[in-house]
Amino acid sequence: MMVIMNANATKTEIDNVVQKVEEYELNPHVIIGSERVVIAASGDPREVDYRIFNVLPGVEQVITISPPYKLASREFHPNDSEISIPGLVKDPGDILIIAGPCSVESRTQLLETAQAVKEAGAHMLRGGAFKPRTSPYSFQGLGDEGLKILAEAREITGLPIITEAMAIKDIEVISEYGAVIQIGARNMQNYSLLRSAGKCQMPVLLKRGMMATIDELLLSAEYILAHGNPEVMICERGIRTFEQSTRYTADINALPVLKSKTHLPVLFDPSHSTGHWEYVLPVALAGIAAGADGLIVEVHPHPEKALSDGQQSLKPERFYDLVSQVNKMAQMMREEPVFAGSGV
Ligand code: PEP
Ligand code: MN
Repeated sequence: MMVIMNANATKTEIDNVVQKVEEYELNPHVIIGSERVVIAASGDPREVDYRIFNVLPGVEQVITISPPYKLASREFHPNDSEISIPGLVKDPGDILIIAGPCSVESRTQLLETAQAVKEAGAHMLRGGAFKPRTSPYSFQGLGDEGLKILAEAREITGLPIITEAMAIKDIEVISEYGAVIQIGARNMQNYSLLRSAGKCQMPVLLKRGMMATIDELLLSAEYILAHGNPEVMICERGIRTFEQSTRYTADINALPVLKSKTHLPVLFDPSHSTGHWEYVLPVALAGIAAGADGLIVEVHPHPEKALSDGQQSLKPERFYDLVSQVNKMAQMMREEPVFAGSGV
């Protein structure tokens, strides 16, 4: 952090800033320039509230240099982190492909989808048992029964499962099924949920809030890491913009930005990003080209009958096509790498 004093700052004001820096157990370095004084503070700035310095008398500007998320930052962990997902079968360097319905609706629907995505080449099965729905009158998920169906699909296909926890109690129930926990966009800043995910023993997929900045996303990942769970993957899933032609706007920029800021695996969700099945393939390819380590894609055998997100769900045959095109794009990216390989 650099505290730039204004040109008229008095010695008392400068001493006051130095004292405040020391209170935070940082080392102050006073640089006396021809016009103004700058106080550089070195040390671990994690617990510093920078805004305090902005309001001290005589301070013109505060510049922060290190990101406030230490554990998530690539600065302090230059190599990609490895996440181990129990039961995952995937060649190292391959794009991680997670697929399945938005919601678990019935045993037949889930088992049919699970078999189809496995045959197409998915590595993991997704499906919500606890659903965050905008309307209280929409299908809210099958709850515990949905988890049992997911577990059965895992037994049959061997695909590890990922499912969303909306509340702390969901984490406890999901843990009985040995799945990866998904924290959805609407809960990205539910700090008690993040703390509990930090204390659980399962990998976590943290999705970006639709109105969250990249730094806010990384600070939410930091919550999970700081509470003891190193197995965190993050996911770009589209943000709210003025554009109405698609459900959200895929923030493709966020992918290379995240890859440079963090060592955590970065996944991309082209289904929620676009909200329309016909845009899912091209946008998925863009995500891979932009450096995503993996995709999470919604697939439904009968999208017209889906109880949630049917309009953005791919039919199995279209998903089959997506996997083959994504793998070709991934191969190209391996030949001309932009970032180091996947950590999943
Ligand atoms: C989902 O994956 O089904 C979901 C609800 O996603 P998001 O939290 O990104 O909206
Ligand atoms: Mn969905």
